[in-house]
Amino acid sequence: MTPLVLFGGTFDPVHRAHINGARAVARALHAPVHLLPNAVPPHRPQPGANGTHRLAMLEAAVARYPELIADDWELRQSGPSYSLHTLEHFRTLAGPRPLVLLIGADSLAGLHTWHRWQDYPTLCHLAVLPRPEAGEADPAVLQAFPQGDAATLCQLPAGRRLMLKRPFLNVSASAVRDALARNGHCPALSSDVEAYIQRHHLYNVPNTSKPPTRPGTA
Ligand code: ATP
Repeated sequence: MTPLVLFGGTFDPVHRAHINGARAVARALHAPVHLLPNAVPPHRPQPGANGTHRLAMLEAAVARYPELIADDWELRQSGPSYSLHTLEHFRTLAGPRPLVLLIGADSLAGLHTWHRWQDYPTLCHLAVLPRPEAGEADPAVLQAFPQGDAATLCQLPAGRRLMLKRPFLNVSASAVRDALARNGHCPALSSDVEAYIQRHHLYNVPNTSKPPTRPGTA
């Protein structure tokens, strides 16, 4: 069965590790991936760009990849975005199909602190992207989600964990925002996203910054 795959995040802004990671999972599971920007992230400082801008950047970033879908479901909900609420909604929508939550290894390492995480194994599988300096996952989480392969994730509705080996990218949205504020550019962004940021003067991009010359575009 084709799984329904969800990739939630602040995407402030969406960068290369998000896109390459989502594409890798789409390939592994032969399934489209929904990328859902969150409305009001409960656990962290408020985003630098509002939901409308973060969604627009996501749409620009996925435009050339038919397997990736920019999904505004969380942005349309009122109140904070809790993953549990999102999972319950998409669990109902998926019916008997597998539901997969895609997260980075740093999120896996913090999963035991998420609201009612113990309910997750009955709702979804996990697909986990490796990430430098991610930290160790809590043993209780690893036990609750026994490791499986892509075939198992496509056969069962929920409860297994797929550990991906690639991509392994040292990219973070915070470092991207710092680079943008310093010089207006960042190689971890697609040219469309970078152009959007410069057009809308997001992330304190210096007014003088011009899009860099890219190979083949000079
Ligand atoms: P920030 O630097 O602001 O914390 P971020 O780069 O971690 O942002 P988020 O939007 O918070 O981006 O992340 C959404 C999801 O993408 C999370 O599950 C996170 O673990 C994952 N993710 C982000 N960057 C990477 C990366 N380089 N490798 C693997 N997973 C990543």
